[in-house]
Amino acid sequence: MFEDIIQFIRNWYSTDDFIPLHVPLFSELDREYVMDAIDSTFVSSVGEYVNRFERELAQYLGVRRAVATINGTAALQVALRLAGVEAHTEVITQPLTFVATANAIVYNNAHPVFVDVDRETMGLSPSSLEMFLQEYAEKRDEGVFNKLSGRRISAILPVHIFGHPCKIEDLINLTEIWQIPVVEDAAEALGSTRNGKRCGTFAKLGIFSFNGNKTITCGGGGAIVTDDETLADKAKHLTTTAKTSHPWEYIHDQIGYNYRMPNLNAALACAQLNQLDSFLVDKRKLSNAYEAFFKEKEFGLFVSEPEKCQSNYWLNTLLMKNEGEKETFLKETNEAGVMTRPIWQLMPELEMYRNCQTGPLDNARWLQERAVNLPSSVRARS
Ligand SMILES: *Cc1c(COP(=O)(O)O)cnc(C)c1O
Repeated sequence: MFEDIIQFIRNWYSTDDFIPLHVPLFSELDREYVMDAIDSTFVSSVGEYVNRFERELAQYLGVRRAVATINGTAALQVALRLAGVEAHTEVITQPLTFVATANAIVYNNAHPVFVDVDRETMGLSPSSLEMFLQEYAEKRDEGVFNKLSGRRISAILPVHIFGHPCKIEDLINLTEIWQIPVVEDAAEALGSTRNGKRCGTFAKLGIFSFNGNKTITCGGGGAIVTDDETLADKAKHLTTTAKTSHPWEYIHDQIGYNYRMPNLNAALACAQLNQLDSFLVDKRKLSNAYEAFFKEKEFGLFVSEPEKCQSNYWLNTLLMKNEGEKETFLKETNEAGVMTRPIWQLMPELEMYRNCQTGPLDNARWLQERAVNLPSSVRARS
């Protein structure tokens, strides 16, 4: 039934072999930088590539500072803490996301609360958030409290799903009224823009991931980005064991984390960042081709970038018109060696998040029933 999409993808990648969902692409530049880090012997906790990557990422994004970390989850944990998330408070996030988003809240001993997404962006819905706050939130001297749980709402954590920018300006405007800080999970959205501004740079703090399946990778890695120098200094301090500067003494002024990105990974990150724009060009060609292909088809609707946005099209997404066809589509494509995947289980469906408070989740459920991800890797240059 889905032979023509299978054939389309096989033609795109010019192969009869297994086609994965998203694999990295490496070049001579990657090899050169990694070998240089090895030759320098600085492969671990210090080295010039870490500083260079932080500088170049900040420059690419147009923010003052970037702090490289061991992965995106660690970046998120620390960013939430720096935004003021404390134990026994609540963070409002979306149910439709990768599990790391919710986990990072719990690593701070805080509680996730799930509010619905918009259908067209798949990100946290400003109108659902507004309704939730109107119903449950109460402004007091010490902050905004959830009337139902009695806990303080310490942050809002929206996600740019699959690289599609969420309505981040509306979310920030809304939370400014309430004075709740926003942390932007841009793990999937490196290079995406909304109204010309890069995702990850709207909120006080944003985070990225450079895991093996993301748009660029350094094996494992992440970053915290901000325009606030003080927060950036704190992020660097906390992620590097909170060691104070001294010529030889080991003085740590608090319990920090060993969350720094090794120089070996940073070398690869520098080389990959250098190729990001060319990756984005190839990814856009594929999403345009998918979009044109599915326009002619009855069975699914291709998810294109929201208005006034440029998506990095990290993972291309198809919404099956007929709910029941999702399973058939997944079965036929995967059996034919073309990897496709359903979207994640919604967070409140996972055992550990079953008892968390949620708003109505109609859009998240609607998307979860229909969405599948299609192969989205950058093609090898021939
Ligand atoms: C990948 C991802 C993360 C975590 O990044 P890691 O580098 O894998 O730790 C966080 N949030 C979202 C939405 C992600 O997709």
